[in-house]
Amino acid sequence: MSIVHLDNSEVQVSTIYCIGKNYDAHAKEMREKLGDKSPSEKPAEPMVFSKPASSLIQSGEAIEFPKLYGKSLSSEMHHEVELVALIGKDAINVSSNDAEKYVAGFGVGLDMTLRDKQQEAKKNGAPWLVSKGFRTGAVVSKFIPASGKSAATFELVLQKNGATVQHGFTKEMLFSLNEIVSYLSHVFGLHAGDVIFTGTPEGVGAVNVGDTLDAALYDLSLPNDRRAVATLSVTVA
Ligand code: ZN
Repeated sequence: MSIVHLDNSEVQVSTIYCIGKNYDAHAKEMREKLGDKSPSEKPAEPMVFSKPASSLIQSGEAIEFPKLYGKSLSSEMHHEVELVALIGKDAINVSSNDAEKYVAGFGVGLDMTLRDKQQEAKKNGAPWLVSKGFRTGAVVSKFIPASGKSAATFELVLQKNGATVQHGFTKEMLFSLNEIVSYLSHVFGLHAGDVIFTGTPEGVGAVNVGDTLDAALYDLSLPNDRRAVATLSVTVA
């Protein structure tokens, strides 16, 4: 069973939801990869995909390229650093005004992506599950209690081998966490223990075997020396 840590307790993970293209600058960098230079607009609905709970690992563990009979499935794995929310109680048809009450914790996570497999899937109109849902492809830190904190108060930083590669502010999310929780509660119904990856800011890039990834979540509502509220560190093996 996959578990996450909320403060000092263990929570069994139910479903892992992820939101795609939730920061304008990242949506743009992904469109440009496909040769599309059109300006972005906030879509009518968030773009949702999911990962199996078996894809989850914690800080301190290793990310692995999935292999099929000894041969790597991918030659291009990308990092996506994201704010991750943990749902604390079942939620069905919840308004975005009420959504905050269902969020139990915040953490930082990596939505690891087999970009070559994803591009292939996009081209063929095929599902993203292999490119997003592979074993070790969802990395999370410990979660801090949400305790009424707004999801818009955080800063995200990802370092690869000690150099900053991604940086963003959660206030720039196209769909706020409240809108995401409301949407998911209407379409799927949320359960206690669901985990939501809320999308990545710009700067996604490749990782290679031997790389170390260090992610941090800073709470900008706190004094400078207490802002780093969640961190994770993993290697690519
Ligand atoms: Zn992502």
